[in-house]
Amino acid sequence: MKILNFSLILLISLFVYSCKNTTVERPDIKLVPWPNQLIETEGTFVITPGTIVSINSDQAKEIANLFVDLINNKLSNSFSLKVKKDTLVQDIHFEIDSSLDIEKEGYQLNITPKSIVLKAATQNGLFYGYNTLVQLLPVSKSETLVLPALEIIDAPRFAWRGLHLDVSRHFFPVSYIKKYIDYLALHKLNVFHWHLVDGIGWRIEIKSHPELTNIGAWRKVKEGKKPWQDFEVWREGDTEEKYGGFYTQEEIKEVVAYAKERFITVVPEIELPGHSKVVFQCYPELLCQDNSGNKILGSDVYCASNPESYRFLEDIFDEVLELFPSDYIHIGGDEVGKTTWKTCKHCQKMMKEKHYSPEELQSHFVNHFDKYLKDKGRKLIGWHEITQGNLSETATIMYWGGDKGVFRYLEKGHPMVLTTGNILYFDHYQSMSKFEPKAFGGYSSLSNVYNYEPVPDSISIQMAANVIG
Ligand SMILES: [Zn+2]
Repeated sequence: MKILNFSLILLISLFVYSCKNTTVERPDIKLVPWPNQLIETEGTFVITPGTIVSINSDQAKEIANLFVDLINNKLSNSFSLKVKKDTLVQDIHFEIDSSLDIEKEGYQLNITPKSIVLKAATQNGLFYGYNTLVQLLPVSKSETLVLPALEIIDAPRFAWRGLHLDVSRHFFPVSYIKKYIDYLALHKLNVFHWHLVDGIGWRIEIKSHPELTNIGAWRKVKEGKKPWQDFEVWREGDTEEKYGGFYTQEEIKEVVAYAKERFITVVPEIELPGHSKVVFQCYPELLCQDNSGNKILGSDVYCASNPESYRFLEDIFDEVLELFPSDYIHIGGDEVGKTTWKTCKHCQKMMKEKHYSPEELQSHFVNHFDKYLKDKGRKLIGWHEITQGNLSETATIMYWGGDKGVFRYLEKGHPMVLTTGNILYFDHYQSMSKFEPKAFGGYSSLSNVYNYEPVPDSISIQMAANVIG
């Protein structure tokens, strides 16, 4: 009888074991970016309706609540996890402790069949660990939530981990911007570079200069053309279809707050002194003048000798700084054509008096705003062409050129964010498929982008330290 009982128990055990094997399969680990250290260990942790989440502080609770919300509302209809303040580790434990030996933005994650323990020294470190958990979980609703046992020690390599979006050429609504920010957060990026202004569309409400959005946010869609071909602003009374849009200051505050909750800083880009054609369709008085005193129409640069150009942009920055608390403000500064300045009677006079080359006139313009921003406790960043002339030493450079030119700009000693164009521009083709929609040109495959090493190995430690992102 005893033997029979034993056999029965063994049979039941084998049955349960085999059931467990079929239902609790160890999931593959798919993480982007891959953590600094990851050790796979035996088994899985299964989240059940009775799983308890413990936290050690209110700051940890905010992150734990995100996790509970994800499980309860997005991934499973049948679970309702609760957060409990408890220094003892329950099934899942979130902990922030500044005395822990963990890097500022780093985290440690330990998953065993009995528990999940996530620790960080700061709240953003814990948030990045939470996003690792998000990536380990299923992407859609599921009745089984299983995580593979593992140990992770992770921290970001660069302080600036950004993603850029140009809303000037093509306008995206706030709902899309928030979705975009969600994707940044999921991949542990911390800067949303919001390209709000360029030559063919002004997208930020400026109360002191309302024509920038009354006129500059809209363009005509000409017959048989796409909205981005043949740029011309749409004015009241025009019969063509109108294309465009802009963000009100209230919407911008909403986006900045949304990003902040996800540990993301929004860095706005306001173009100067070039790439500004749309501004002069709204305020033509800021254009250069030829020797006969006529406005040089069609130009995309501010008149660099006109004090009104500087006052106008200062007004804009005053409102921009109120909306964006970021340390950095991006001033564009790329591809400034010098032809207009060379033919403007006032700019010619200024260059002669100050013994400026056209490039030095550009740096005069850029440095004015470097100082303006510095005086208000902010930092200027611009595309690498701002190094022409005599750029202020405190300016930070964003480099979009080919990877071979990185050295040239690193040697100048400015802090740099590398956005190497031939790899990191996503308006390129991303596959060799003939079904891929029309792209700008170039080819940036997922593996090329993921495996890209931004810092050349042959540069000195000192030069490499200047690469902030
Ligand atoms: Zn001029």
